[in-house]
Amino acid sequence: MVQGKLAWRVGRLAAVRDETPSARTLALDVPGWPGHLAGQHVDLRLTAADGYRTTRTYSLAAPAEGERVEVTVQRVPDGEVSPYLTEVFTVGDPIELRGPVGGWFVWRPTAPDPVMLVAGGAGIVPLMAMIRARRRAGSRAPFKLLYSVRTPEDVYYADELRRPEPGLDVTIRYTRKGPDGRPGEPHRIGVADVNTAGWPAEFSPQCFVCGPTGFVETVADILVALGHDARRVKTERFGPSGS
Ligand SMILES: Cc1cc2nc3c(=O)[nH]c(=O)nc-3n(C[C@H](O)[C@H](O)[C@H](O)COP(=O)(O)OP(=O)(O)OC[C@H]3O[C@@H](n4cnc5c(N)ncnc54)[C@H](O)[C@@H]3O)c2cc1C
Repeated sequence: MVQGKLAWRVGRLAAVRDETPSARTLALDVPGWPGHLAGQHVDLRLTAADGYRTTRTYSLAAPAEGERVEVTVQRVPDGEVSPYLTEVFTVGDPIELRGPVGGWFVWRPTAPDPVMLVAGGAGIVPLMAMIRARRRAGSRAPFKLLYSVRTPEDVYYADELRRPEPGLDVTIRYTRKGPDGRPGEPHRIGVADVNTAGWPAEFSPQCFVCGPTGFVETVADILVALGHDARRVKTERFGPSGS
């Protein structure tokens, strides 16, 4: 079973969707895909004509639809793999992938307890998979999302997050420039944001925090300082993951 999960499979790019000027969702058809939980990720492997190989990790952005899976890739301007995936990789092209990987940073639709999601930038990807899995399962677990981005143009899944959804509260904070006419200075997420956009610690929510390493550490420290049980604060860091 474990062997099956870790086997490399060949998927094919079936469709693309631009999320922001620098992030693109890739829908991959993967024959034999075994299914996955929201929060898990995959390894994608590329092989050049000269045999050079490189691997990167990407969170799954949505529950599986049969053998179709989605990832959302943010282009890192001087990166090796993400510019290829967002600019060159074309519908019909093959890619190797391995997964699903990760059994801890996951949300199960049977869990009834409140959920606090905190995302920085591309860290929204596995948290969006949780929101979509909740919707798909008809779960009534109450969710709150606190999402930090640079500017309104950097919001992933913007239309979907704007749509009202019972039991889901969305709060977006901007670090560089907010929407025109909106009061409040752009700022990085701090104690006041986590406190007002989140659940009180006595509600014992499951907390999922995802983004760049510094962001994740800051938010996890704030949650614990606000009284949340550290064991219920799960984190995923989007640091460099290549090999
Ligand atoms: C568990 C996990 C899940 C991930 N999920 C996603 C995801 O859903 N979407 C996504 O876009 N990325 C995700 N990543 C990051 C991804 O694996 C790559 O690190 C990223 O795409 C950059 O790869 P690259 O080859 O383009 O850059 P590289 O060639 O590896 O790096 C180029 C330069 O960018 C720096 N760098 C590398 N990664 C980042 C980064 N994430 N942010 C800022 N600077 C960086 C490097 O230090 C280097 O200076 C995830 C990482 C992990 C560990």
